[in-house]
Amino acid sequence: MLSAPFETDVAVVGAGPAGRAAAAVLAGAGARVLAVDERGAPAASVGDDGALQWSGATAWHLTEDRTLWVSRRGASVAVRPRLVILATGAMERPFPLPGWTLPGVFGAAGLLSLMMSGGLVPDRPVVLIGGGDMLRTVSKACHDLGVMPVATLHAPSGCRMQGEDSVTSVSFLRGEIRETIECGIVGLHAGFIPSTQFARLIGCRLQWNAARRCFQPVIDAYGNSSVPQVMIAGDAASVEGEAAAASGGAIAGWDALRQLGRITPAERDERCAALRPERHTRSESAPGLPDDDVIVCRCEEITAGQIRAAARQGVRQADELKGLSRCGMGPCQGRTCGPVVAELIAAESGLPVADVGLFRVRVPLKPIAMREMAQCVPA
Ligand SMILES: Cc1cc2nc3c(=O)[nH]c(=O)nc-3n(C[C@H](O)[C@H](O)[C@H](O)COP(=O)(O)OP(=O)(O)OC[C@H]3O[C@@H](n4cnc5c(N)ncnc54)[C@H](O)[C@@H]3O)c2cc1C
Repeated sequence: MLSAPFETDVAVVGAGPAGRAAAAVLAGAGARVLAVDERGAPAASVGDDGALQWSGATAWHLTEDRTLWVSRRGASVAVRPRLVILATGAMERPFPLPGWTLPGVFGAAGLLSLMMSGGLVPDRPVVLIGGGDMLRTVSKACHDLGVMPVATLHAPSGCRMQGEDSVTSVSFLRGEIRETIECGIVGLHAGFIPSTQFARLIGCRLQWNAARRCFQPVIDAYGNSSVPQVMIAGDAASVEGEAAAASGGAIAGWDALRQLGRITPAERDERCAALRPERHTRSESAPGLPDDDVIVCRCEEITAGQIRAAARQGVRQADELKGLSRCGMGPCQGRTCGPVVAELIAAESGLPVADVGLFRVRVPLKPIAMREMAQCVPA
């Protein structure tokens, strides 16, 4: 049964530093604001800042008329805001290496989350592979839990993970010698990239950031995207760390108040002047493109070699590849493989990555039950 839409001035998707800062500014000025976050147990509460928060609530659709569909407690609610602020954060950059699909291989930040909030204590030797500050953070967390990573491999050459049912070893080249390390858990890390699913769904313009090797939404100085009434803040706009995310969220909040007619442009600018963030980019290195035998699309088991072959046959856009190979059509809907697919096609065809683009996104952006989706269609 479809309930009446929930009306609010601003819906904020994501309650990390950016979303929380935006919600606090808005609620502090008396605007009606709803912040939804999929983390936590399902609950509705009013924060100290006066913002309404739904935790354990997953936003999975944003329609052209700015209706946000949110799944909570097994049923979906339509939220009708005047403005939407997308503060959905970042995702780990996909890091395809031979054997990365084996059970026991994690993104290092995901592994850290499992240890810090999921209570996981690794009971097998851990190897960390990649680069950047994150590996140091995970290494320290392992140490604090009494589990020492047996090795941290910074961009090793010829690296591969081996095992039958799960990862049992990592090997790499030291000069011409192949060395092998026994392990049961691997944490891979190659940095973060903005999470752009919602932005792409609603048609926001993206640009290719060559220096950071990622697509990111085009926004103005206040977080307004190319789509009216849709703002983007924090890592979802540009991955620059916690302080910058909070500043960006607050700036978006002040401009949202201006758009709601609650403050003047001059008042907004006065409030934002002190908030312009000091940029901080975590140190991380993006890996090279995978060799031909490496699986890139984990869901459909499509290799880098198959993607390169498709580009040689004339595929010029990520979406064209779907029809040929089912690449990007599995449960993750290309969220994981998409960035690598774009770079592979670009490198093979000689086109700019921006022209190749990412896969078109499809709803639901997060898995929900068919029964729940069906209930959202008016009878
Ligand atoms: C392990 C780790 C350590 C870090 N250490 C540092 C550090 O030392 N210093 C530093 O400056 N930065 C650090 N960072 C980065 C910092 O956490 C981020 O830059 C910052 O959290 C970005 O804030 P954000 O609000 O943009 O996104 P996030 O904090 O990622 O918040 C996004 C939120 O959106 C929610 N969300 C996403 N999609 C949906 C959806 N469809 N429906 C509902 N909710 C959704 C998520 O649940 C999440 O809570 C670290 C990051 C990690 C992962």
